[in-house]
Amino acid sequence: MVVYTLMSTSEIQPAANFIRQIVADDLASNKHNGKVVTRFPPEPNGFLHIGHAKSICLNFGIAQENTGSCNLRFDDTNPEKESLEFMQSIQQDVQWLGFQWTAEHHSSDYFEQLYAYAVQLIAAGFAYVDGLSAEKMREYRGSLTEAGIESPNRQRAIAENLALFQQMREGKFSDGEYVLRAKIDMAAANINLRDPVIYRIKHAKHHRTGSTWCVYPMYDYTHCISDAMEGITHSLCTLEFEDHRPLYDWFLDKLDTACHPQQIEFARLQLEYTVMSKRKLAQLVTDNYVNGWDDPRLPTIAGLRRRGVTPAAIRDFCERIGITKKDAWIEMSALESCIRNDLNEHAPRAMAVLQPLRVVIENYPETQVEQLVMSNHPQQADMGTRIVPFAKVVLIEQDDFALEPPAKFKRLIAGGEVRLRGAYVIKCERVITDAQGKITELRCSYDVNTLGKKPEGRKVKGVVHWVAEAYSLPAELRLYETLFTAANPEADSHFLEALNPNSLTILTKSRVEASLATASVENNYQFERSAYFCVDKDSKPEKLVFNRTVSLRDTWGK
Ligand code: ATP
Ligand code: MG
Repeated sequence: MVVYTLMSTSEIQPAANFIRQIVADDLASNKHNGKVVTRFPPEPNGFLHIGHAKSICLNFGIAQENTGSCNLRFDDTNPEKESLEFMQSIQQDVQWLGFQWTAEHHSSDYFEQLYAYAVQLIAAGFAYVDGLSAEKMREYRGSLTEAGIESPNRQRAIAENLALFQQMREGKFSDGEYVLRAKIDMAAANINLRDPVIYRIKHAKHHRTGSTWCVYPMYDYTHCISDAMEGITHSLCTLEFEDHRPLYDWFLDKLDTACHPQQIEFARLQLEYTVMSKRKLAQLVTDNYVNGWDDPRLPTIAGLRRRGVTPAAIRDFCERIGITKKDAWIEMSALESCIRNDLNEHAPRAMAVLQPLRVVIENYPETQVEQLVMSNHPQQADMGTRIVPFAKVVLIEQDDFALEPPAKFKRLIAGGEVRLRGAYVIKCERVITDAQGKITELRCSYDVNTLGKKPEGRKVKGVVHWVAEAYSLPAELRLYETLFTAANPEADSHFLEALNPNSLTILTKSRVEASLATASVENNYQFERSAYFCVDKDSKPEKLVFNRTVSLRDTWGK
């Protein structure tokens, strides 16, 4: 497999890809009467993740670009795993990403029609009711090198099949007692064509149809018919369905549907250091390895959102990774780079001190407070300014002072000078330590002539961020690392063993500038010299909570 790194912005084309080409060619040849109709077909059995975003951007994007339409279709044929909650989260996430569906459909709306089509298949001799045990059915299926064996029930009379199928629907049998199978070819090289099951009995309550049904159609059968019923022109799905395409076409050829959509497959998104299988995501949530589906460490749309990732960054990422027929792994740095690009442009700047060190400016007047005006964004004047108070006691980052500085240390050292960003140059006069030798405070002096001016007669290179102790607010900062330490945790059945024990660090002593008191949930900021952060939904006026979205620079090289 190939691992792609990201193209630079200048190399990005408004991404031509083979699917856009097929759609353009079909429009040129008037293949679907000049129409483009796509759909995004999630199963409501979990929250959407960034892989789904790729499919969403593609399906909705292609419809938008061609003034076509795109439906949201809930592929809800597995009642036990699906729920209203998942359905609502999907609607919310698609809209949050910036897309609006033309129509909302549910496979379950088609149950009656799907049943009628199955009756048609039986009547035409293309389907039969089978009572083989699951075990026998597996055995009779054959293998890649061996043809399958025909079920003894394959030759059952049509009338009998019709009667049995009716009784299946009426609830006369228990789960697994019978199935309805398509009669195709038990010797087909493509195993999917060896009389696949199209209906199974399940006495389960469905979140939309309740207990109206106890037979449920299978994915392959449901999907193509649903597409046809909605007049889909291009049915875009991921590569694992390539081998199912002959089945997709077989059903539509045998049934007299209004149209015959074209299934086109593309490679799914695979992102390093995370998992995207819904089963694994559900396990992480249910067994409390993370805090809910919107945990900021998850690749779910809700998690990315809570972490502070913007819809624009996700759309940009989906465009840049492109659409191909080749499986590839995408580096996490590619996603982070898109997030950073967007936040760099749009996130206002603010100052926060993650791990404070107290600095007393001894020659600064005791009761003086200066209201410094700072711009919210260095390049975007229209983002305005804010007031940051400056006073005698300020807090700086512990890391911005060193008693024994490493080479080329440009920050504060004993006896050295540094500029407090947007304020004065200070000099460290004395270092106060406690009984254990731990630094507790710095005593500094300031040069009153350096506000917005260079000091005279000497160079001060370092600039550090700060907040005034009395005019800052306590905040909890949540720092995230990748959820897994392995690049491809899904490859391992013990994926839980690859969980990163340091995926979340909580800083409880941080202080942020007072202007952030009015920040709303999901607001993004660049905390200068630190990282991009956003306000978490747990944030309260008395205790602000921020999530680190992404670092300022790519740290993957380290
Ligand atoms: P599961 O993990 O249970 O297999 P799924 O990925 O099949 O889930 P669906 O809800 O069936 O989830 O997916 C809806 C649509 O999103 C499908 O068309 C599917 O092909 C697409 N999709 C899902 N995962 C990805 C991915 N990683 N990259 C691109 N498209 C994806
Ligand atoms: Mg699926």
